[in-house]
Amino acid sequence: MSTPTYHRFETIIVGSGGAGLMAALHSSKEVGTAVVSKLYPMRSHTGAAAGGIAAALSNLEEDSWENHAYDTIKGGDYVVDQTPVEILCREAVECIYDLEHMGLPFDRTPDGRISQRRFGGHTRPVPGNPSKREPVMRSCHAADRTGHMILQTLYQQCIKQGVTFFDEYHMLDLIMVEGECRGIVAIEIATGRLHVFHAKSVLLATGGFGRMYKVSSNAFALTGDGPAIAYRHGIPVEDMEFYQFHPTGIYRLGVLLTEGCRGDGGIMFNGKGERFMETYAPNMLELASRDVCSRSIYQEVRAGRGVSGKDFVYLDIRPSTINKYKSSPIHRDGLEVDDHFIESRLSESLELSRTYLGIDPLKEPMPIQPTAHYAMGGTPTDFDTRVFRNAAGDVVPGLYAAGETACVSVHGANRLGTNSLVDLVVFGRRAGKAMARYAKSHDFKEIPKDAAVPTKIMIEGALAKPRTEPWVRIRDELQVVMMDDCGVYRTAEGLANARQTVASLKKRYEATGIQDKGTIFNTGLLEYLELGCLIDLAAATVASAESRKESRGAHSREDFPDRDDVKHFNHTFATKDGDLDVKIDTRAVDVIYIEKDGQQVPKYPLEVRKY
Ligand SMILES: Cc1cc2nc3c(=O)[nH]c(=O)nc-3n(C[C@H](O)[C@H](O)[C@H](O)COP(=O)(O)OP(=O)(O)OC[C@H]3O[C@@H](n4cnc5c(N)ncnc54)[C@H](O)[C@@H]3O)c2cc1C
Repeated sequence: MSTPTYHRFETIIVGSGGAGLMAALHSSKEVGTAVVSKLYPMRSHTGAAAGGIAAALSNLEEDSWENHAYDTIKGGDYVVDQTPVEILCREAVECIYDLEHMGLPFDRTPDGRISQRRFGGHTRPVPGNPSKREPVMRSCHAADRTGHMILQTLYQQCIKQGVTFFDEYHMLDLIMVEGECRGIVAIEIATGRLHVFHAKSVLLATGGFGRMYKVSSNAFALTGDGPAIAYRHGIPVEDMEFYQFHPTGIYRLGVLLTEGCRGDGGIMFNGKGERFMETYAPNMLELASRDVCSRSIYQEVRAGRGVSGKDFVYLDIRPSTINKYKSSPIHRDGLEVDDHFIESRLSESLELSRTYLGIDPLKEPMPIQPTAHYAMGGTPTDFDTRVFRNAAGDVVPGLYAAGETACVSVHGANRLGTNSLVDLVVFGRRAGKAMARYAKSHDFKEIPKDAAVPTKIMIEGALAKPRTEPWVRIRDELQVVMMDDCGVYRTAEGLANARQTVASLKKRYEATGIQDKGTIFNTGLLEYLELGCLIDLAAATVASAESRKESRGAHSREDFPDRDDVKHFNHTFATKDGDLDVKIDTRAVDVIYIEKDGQQVPKYPLEVRKY
């Protein structure tokens, strides 16, 4: 391979989704900033986000950031760091107005304010009866293309601001010197040339790793490259056992039908035509949190009440059904939902159903099943997005993480819908500012001349090895075992099987090479390297799930069905220990105390989580 090309920027952002672009925008206001992304920015997965972005604006109903914080902590089944949650919910409001001023075309109320819709787990105390809670309209939206609009808006601002973009450059390594991060190594996909990016601060904003599972709402590029590469450098991953399954994936395909369908009144029915959420969440019904809804679907299917005895149920957004149950927000004004209401607010979902299922949701219900969706875990950070090197909270100088890649940790054991987009913009902005501060107060430090050599060896090794079997087969087997044994429900036996299977897949992966030996647009090589990332993260996920012997949020152990606040009210830190061994540590949850009757008591006391 030829000599790597050298670049120098004060800050390097890896990833051009919502988190990366927000960080780039704010960093570039102060220092020279470049974004390195394996996809063109507009193809980043943030563009798929449909339903909305949460902020307690009180535009349609009285609300407060404190309500939002309460819901986020309860939604996360309490293993949520409370200081960053308060930051998230307070700064959310400011960030929405920032986005609006940048030109984001939010939907409007008739009097011109930003429109909001309901989403699962977002509540407020019932006016006049504060001991009870009711769903609240907190999700700001641009039809069901909110993420796409966020990307468009931020990208335009970044261009205006003079951010340098390296599109279709794939990061393969971090440059770590004496425990500090001083840059990255990336491959230019079009030419196969290696590039060394020397920087004062680096942000990992590489998104999630939902391709670890067979049925997934995530695009092919979501392979956890950022956390996996950091993990190989001894940086832990946090709370990997908490992986969210979204209840309304299109049957068999996993393609997502936004929670906005239920927020706007859609109802789920089992094969007997029963509205089964009445049994599992009598108060919030379809707007219970995602983990509760996904488990409810599994329970119905297990009890033989799937549609036609199969493993799916129905999501019904026909106006006639919504009107019958009077479950849409517009019923509060005595109005009825019609085709136009559904078309104008859920056009993407209608299109997906018509395209992939051949079903017109205005006329028929849609078959759905839970789909792997969102990583609550990832690279651990503080609330300025600085990466932790260990469970004690020591930081890695120069390294930052934000967005789905990171675990800050505001989502705990289960993220609420619309809380990811707001996490991207709040902590993306914090990341940009913190990185610029760091860059301005530090000089460039030297990097080794051979910084790209380990990457070169890795690539040449993959190209030189004989192809003993197709790597795609290894990926398929990984996705199946993770889905079956480390999915919605888990047991000790299943997890042990997953651990052994992942270990043997790793051996097979290391033994085999790839067919295409070229350098130009060698997507086979890149997908093979992405699979390596997924395998390492799968090992950390399984080990974390084995260590948590309780059920909490998205982590449901059939052998430990209860939440155990005595032993497990903490975060899990998984660190690579040898080739596949994983060392598990724990870190205390950040709890805010307040004074009450002369005593220090938790501001958000632990409660039994019911909806
Ligand atoms: C279908 C769907 C609908 C959703 N709807 C909502 C919603 O309505 N509201 C909500 O709050 N959340 C929603 N989410 C979740 C939310 O969209 C994501 O969590 C969020 O967009 C992730 O943003 P990000 O910036 O962290 O990463 P992404 O937007 O995924 O971007 C990752 C970036 O990293 C780059 N990258 C990755 N690896 C490398 C590498 N090795 N080298 C260089 N670049 C790399 C990619 O090119 C990409 O630019 C939804 C998710 C899905 C899948």
